[in-house]
Amino acid sequence: MRTQVAIIGGGPAGLLLSQLLHKAGVASVVLERRSREYVLSRIRAGVLETGLVNLMHEAGIAERMDREGFIHDGTLIANGNDQFRIDFKELTGSHVMVYGQTEVTRDLYEARDAAGATVMHECSGVKPHDLTTDAPYVTFFHEGAVHRLDCDFIAGCDGFHGPCRQEIPLSVRREFEKVYPFGWLGVLSETPPVDNELIYSNSERGFALCSMRNANLSRYYIQCQLSDTPDDWTDDAFWDELRRRIPEEAADRLVTGPSIEKSIAPLRSFVCEPMQWGRMFLCGDAAHIVPPTGAKGLNTAASDVNYLWRALVAWYNDGERGGIDTYSETALARIWKAERFSWWMTTLLHRLPEQSEFDIRMQDADIAYLQHSTAAQTAMAENYVGLPY
Ligand SMILES: Cc1cc2nc3c(=O)[nH]c(=O)nc-3n(C[C@H](O)[C@H](O)[C@H](O)COP(=O)(O)OP(=O)(O)OC[C@H]3O[C@@H](n4cnc5c(N)ncnc54)[C@H](O)[C@@H]3O)c2cc1C
Repeated sequence: MRTQVAIIGGGPAGLLLSQLLHKAGVASVVLERRSREYVLSRIRAGVLETGLVNLMHEAGIAERMDREGFIHDGTLIANGNDQFRIDFKELTGSHVMVYGQTEVTRDLYEARDAAGATVMHECSGVKPHDLTTDAPYVTFFHEGAVHRLDCDFIAGCDGFHGPCRQEIPLSVRREFEKVYPFGWLGVLSETPPVDNELIYSNSERGFALCSMRNANLSRYYIQCQLSDTPDDWTDDAFWDELRRRIPEEAADRLVTGPSIEKSIAPLRSFVCEPMQWGRMFLCGDAAHIVPPTGAKGLNTAASDVNYLWRALVAWYNDGERGGIDTYSETALARIWKAERFSWWMTTLLHRLPEQSEFDIRMQDADIAYLQHSTAAQTAMAENYVGLPY
């Protein structure tokens, strides 16, 4: 087989790249390890920056999002019972869109199907080759046969555990990592959200987040021990704990119901440098991870896709190679700022096991500063709605 761009990984980064390239007349093949049903069953991110919303418009897949998504002009921050609002619209003129990653992925699959794209599922043993030559290729197993896909470029959109990052030699690869000593227990329930905006809450019992997917689908999280499993938490125990961690007036309004999904995610900050090697480019979780507190995981994947898509189209249409050569540098400049913001939000709002009284006073002072300073709120808001590409 031959294509122009071989894309490894059919998550949001790989599919969005494939769709944007298609719109610009560049061919690609997507190789995905899992079945489509599996990819679509993963409950993950739900807050989209304006940059990603614009990319979805550019990719021609925004119709359902525009109809069903919810524009959020602000968010609530709580410290114990004290709660205040950050007004994104007033502070930045912008907003975020609440629309689930699962829906983004479904819209992308439908668009790729409609265009007759090649998206191959349940590929195993995917391996990129000859990355520093002008003729890279990928080998893999599919439906019992060995395949070879020749291409001009390879996009590694294969998530944190994928094989592409490992192809960058250890002599040039640097990895930066921070693992947080807690996880997030997330529950999805078919209940109306407790508020029409998200509530980020720091309480003496630990962090909680009240989020949503639509008017009758709520997503709630509480900080938990890394050793916990979802089976350790009955629905009642989860709701009781959530109520104790959010302001009383919100707890009184909370509508509970059976969980339809319950999972625990560990929290990690991670960056790989560089994000390219020869003719292979990493996008999204393949190159970096953020703790979800700042809602940046999917959004940083999208910003990588934005830079790579434009660079590849400039190469094919105008023979311009500037964007290709500087991809890693350009993408990383924005990634590190999203890493800083996600780390800051996480540090501001969680209780750490070894936290001293001094550390807690520092958190209180940081939250009070955010509450009363327009400058601090503007800095928070412009990062939350997304720094410009
Ligand atoms: C449990 C969980 C919860 C999350 N919650 C949030 C959240 O609330 N908010 C937020 O902003 N972000 C969240 N994130 C992060 C966000 O979902 C990711 O940043 C986003 O999915 C990144 O997209 P991606 O396409 O780069 O990677 P992925 O979505 O991981 O997609 C990578 C794809 O590559 C495939 N793949 C892997 N290995 C191979 C291989 N060898 N060959 C072929 N294909 C392969 C995988 O099957 C997958 O489909 C969460 C992540 C996880 C894991």
